[in-house]
Amino acid sequence: SSAFQAPPVLTLDELIAQRDDALRDYEALVRRGLSLDLTRGKPSARQLDLASRMLTLPSGHKAADGTDCRNYGGLQGLSELRAIFSGSLQVPVAQLVAAGNSSLSLMHDSIVHAMLGRLPGAERRWADEPRIAFLCPVPGYDRHFALCERFGIELIPVPMTDEGPDMDVVERLALEDPQIKGIWCVPKYSNPSGVSYGDETVRRLAAMPVAAPDFRIFWDNAYAVHHLTDTPAEIADLLALCEENGNPDRAFVFGSTSKITFAGGGVAFFGSSAANVAWLLGYTAKRTIGPDKINHLRHVEFLRDEDGLAEHMRHHRELIRPKFDAVETILTKELGGTGLASWSNPAGGYFISLDVLEGCAREVVSRAAGAGIALTPAGATHPYGNDPRDSTIRIAPTYPELDEVELAITGLATCVRLVGTEKLLE
Ligand code: PLP
Repeated sequence: SSAFQAPPVLTLDELIAQRDDALRDYEALVRRGLSLDLTRGKPSARQLDLASRMLTLPSGHKAADGTDCRNYGGLQGLSELRAIFSGSLQVPVAQLVAAGNSSLSLMHDSIVHAMLGRLPGAERRWADEPRIAFLCPVPGYDRHFALCERFGIELIPVPMTDEGPDMDVVERLALEDPQIKGIWCVPKYSNPSGVSYGDETVRRLAAMPVAAPDFRIFWDNAYAVHHLTDTPAEIADLLALCEENGNPDRAFVFGSTSKITFAGGGVAFFGSSAANVAWLLGYTAKRTIGPDKINHLRHVEFLRDEDGLAEHMRHHRELIRPKFDAVETILTKELGGTGLASWSNPAGGYFISLDVLEGCAREVVSRAAGAGIALTPAGATHPYGNDPRDSTIRIAPTYPELDEVELAITGLATCVRLVGTEKLLE
């Protein structure tokens, strides 16, 4: 990440001149009448094209064990597909479930089942608790927060560091409040900061004493194989560490192929202790007789094995790395040394986090909208949409074409210069 550089010492006249420059650039930008969208972390059409061959698969209908995938059954999903993802999700094949197309729906169902049924270790159903709260490292993923809000789960923000959530805060809160039942974690190439959790963070999460006997870590490893460099981030094995530290049921691991194959037609995964897997599948059996095994087989034929998966991800990287590089180059050129912003330069994942001067993020997003550049609403990265410093903006560069990313980020930088200099002149 680039750190906030100290603002250069400017005279009032110099600052006014910079503001006037920015205003001129902004007016020119508005006159261009752009229509660009950097809001959501979706794969581009070209990325989806990488998996086009899947539309012709599977070539047969028999799973490795002879199961006819066209028929009912096989609640845990094809084991040969689970074997392909077992390593990257750090879950033994026997403890991994391959399900439908969305990991978010597995997170949703896990919460609903914890509400209406009893988790292993729980004294009562969450629905019978006077209050339920989750810890939310910030900045974080807005859909995690929205999911909790939908069920009346209170959101407690925890600051992020370069090594993951601030563990002193997490340990203190989880120990003192038995109503804190969970924490949201995106441990690799986090959405939106790009941070990968350090080994010590993972160990402390696994080992910390907590007040709630049914405390769960929602370990959303959505970007497990989404590297942008030659040195893939490695994170510690949460599930194994939980087991070693006497907390075998603490981790719920999630992942999916949404940003590997098709975002609308991938496969989602749940991994945990044997007890938690039995718990989830017990309820799942009431809602389905089995998952879409044809799609599982299609994924097995297409990805083949772990090496096939890694090779496929290199093709994604070839398409999206230039977009991330463009953002870094343009932000450095336009905002480097101004003291008006700092931003992440992630080694993987789908997002860049841009921090502007305190009190400026909403205004920057609003000015960008005025110039036809749609950004994720400021505040979305925080519980209840409330970024108390009003400074974090999430940039999602994967979906637009490269030239559109360049235009949009140049325009965004103009908005940051304008709002920032106006702020300093207040
Ligand atoms: N988790 C994170 C951290 C994400 O960023 C996203 C999508 O942006 C998802 C989950 C959605 O996953 P799925 O498509 O498997 O529901």
